Amino acid sequence: MRVGQRLLRIIDCMENDTSKRHYPPAQQGLRGSHPGSFDTAHLLRDGTRWSDGRDTGEFYDLIVVGGGLSGLASAWFYHQKRPKARILILENHDDFGGHARRNEFHIGDRMLLTNGGTINIENYNAYGEGARYLFESIGVDPTRYEEFHDDDVYRGLEAGMFFNKERYGEDLLVKGAGRRPWAEFFADAPLSDQARDDLARLFDSNEDYLAALNVEEKSHRLRQMSYEEFLRDIVGICDEAISVLEQDSYWAIGNDCLSAWAATADGSPGTRGLGLRKPRKDSVYFQFPDGNASIARMLVRDLNPIVAVGNTMEDIVSAQFNYEKLDDPDAQVRIRLSSTVTNVRHEGDPESAETVSVSYIHGGERFRVRASNVVLACYHSIIPHICSDLPEWQSKALALSLKGTLIYANVAVRNWQPFKNLGVNRIDCPGSYFSALRLQNPISMGDYQHARSPAEPNVINLFHTPRGPGNTPQEQWKNGRETMLDASLEDYEREIRQQLARILGPAGFDVEKDILGITVNRWAHGYAYSQNPETGEIAYLLDEVSEDYAPWIAGRQAHGRMVFANSDAAAIAMTEEAIGEAHRAVSELVP
Ligand SMILES: Cc1cc2nc3c(=O)[nH]c(=O)nc-3n(C[C@H](O)[C@H](O)[C@H](O)COP(=O)(O)OP(=O)(O)OC[C@H]3O[C@@H](n4cnc5c(N)ncnc54)[C@H](O)[C@@H]3O)c2cc1C
Repeated sequence: MRVGQRLLRIIDCMENDTSKRHYPPAQQGLRGSHPGSFDTAHLLRDGTRWSDGRDTGEFYDLIVVGGGLSGLASAWFYHQKRPKARILILENHDDFGGHARRNEFHIGDRMLLTNGGTINIENYNAYGEGARYLFESIGVDPTRYEEFHDDDVYRGLEAGMFFNKERYGEDLLVKGAGRRPWAEFFADAPLSDQARDDLARLFDSNEDYLAALNVEEKSHRLRQMSYEEFLRDIVGICDEAISVLEQDSYWAIGNDCLSAWAATADGSPGTRGLGLRKPRKDSVYFQFPDGNASIARMLVRDLNPIVAVGNTMEDIVSAQFNYEKLDDPDAQVRIRLSSTVTNVRHEGDPESAETVSVSYIHGGERFRVRASNVVLACYHSIIPHICSDLPEWQSKALALSLKGTLIYANVAVRNWQPFKNLGVNRIDCPGSYFSALRLQNPISMGDYQHARSPAEPNVINLFHTPRGPGNTPQEQWKNGRETMLDASLEDYEREIRQQLARILGPAGFDVEKDILGITVNRWAHGYAYSQNPETGEIAYLLDEVSEDYAPWIAGRQAHGRMVFANSDAAAIAMTEEAIGEAHRAVSELVP
């Protein structure tokens, strides 16, 4: 970049005073699927169709629908191949990044960061060629985690389990999960003798409960049953013990819909002795203080350098972003937020058309833009509602791609002394509204410093999977999604306050004085499908999917000038897949 340009960029970014400008990451309250972001999409779902709006006169080489990691990566890969291309990204939320969302709390002069959605690079070794190339090019080096993670901050704190009185008869925090022998740990829990014995046996077990079967027979059998059935019918665990094993904050589904085969992949209790778990390749873990939102921010800064200064993975963490520059008319890659795409269609026969028309609604008004090519990086189930010239078989396949629902709530607290007093930093809460909570992972990068002393402010992360009644994951998520979107901020705040008061209150936590901010990130369309990355198998029990029919593969076939990215295209809810699918989709446009 020339000196003059660099100077202009610095002046632009200095103008960015987040206290005066619209700055979504610092907004508290309902985020993720925030009010106003989904109304147009729900009208589409319910059958409303609009005629084309005002033609803005803009023509792009590429339009990307969806500004999540897959959409941003699609723009990035395309830009690499066609450096002069003009690109427009349309995103329905008021922030970019999709699930890779940043939450900021400002407490006096201090900024607290956390992830609103996607947390980590779970295993960089699982990243494909495209994703690795992107990381190396924008300057993300996931092997550096130990430089930034402070092991000392929570030293001496351990995992606990909170049993609530509604389900277990009394409110009780039991500490030392994983450290103490399981029999001793569960002996302290308010459970029947039978449940205590079952859980101790299960957690310690290396028994092969399907010893009579060979590997193929075992995997076939496990694919046909849920993890809950496995525990009840094969291991012989009582229902009370099963209730303690909820792990829906990890899989975003209950054990009644999680396939027993998938449960073997993460070594869920009872599966370790089956001899099916592949030894895990060396993992390379990484986490930014705001989760994978930093990756989204690095991509945006690389695509449109006038938005933020800096060029390293350290300085991105506290880099100020000028959202007003995201859609700057002079930028080669523009990001238009709060814009829901309502129609994408070829101008002519999809086989031979030269252009694609894209309509969207922004601020209640209808607009139309045009492009040579389109990447659909939005979640797949919306595509049949917005692509009017798709063949029916493809629309049907895309429509099957329903997603898991999750809530990640973040609470800024005055200090974390109550955790220190209790001796815990992470707590599973079977039966409570939030199934788990923990203190923010202590990561300091660049100018950003995580709390070190228990007297300093910190963030508590809480997890909930809204699931309604139903026999299939789709039914449960669909019903849960409705409850999730109907609930008000006050409803969530009430749950947060009462759960924190009950767990931390005895250690001195005062909800009135100690809570300094609450952000509730609702992910109505959260986890993709999900295929199990370890085994390549579908993790949820779905009737529509068979060995002969993988709807995500049918759905992602290029259609004329449209290609399909998003983690849905891989049926794997992982960052590497969102980026990998962007790489594949763009390669279909520019081989
Ligand atoms: C809560 C949560 C935690 C996760 N944690 C991890 C983790 O720790 N590690 C990991 O590797 N992976 C994690 N994942 C998975 C990972 O985040 C995703 O695979 C990835 O971020 C998905 O990116 P995407 O771009 O494919 O989809 P999205 O992030 O969903 O982005 C798609 C965007 O398109 C927008 N859109 C949809 N329709 C339209 C339209 N009509 N017009 C305009 N825009 C539209 C959507 O609103 C969305 O913003 C997590 C996912 C969730 C939900």
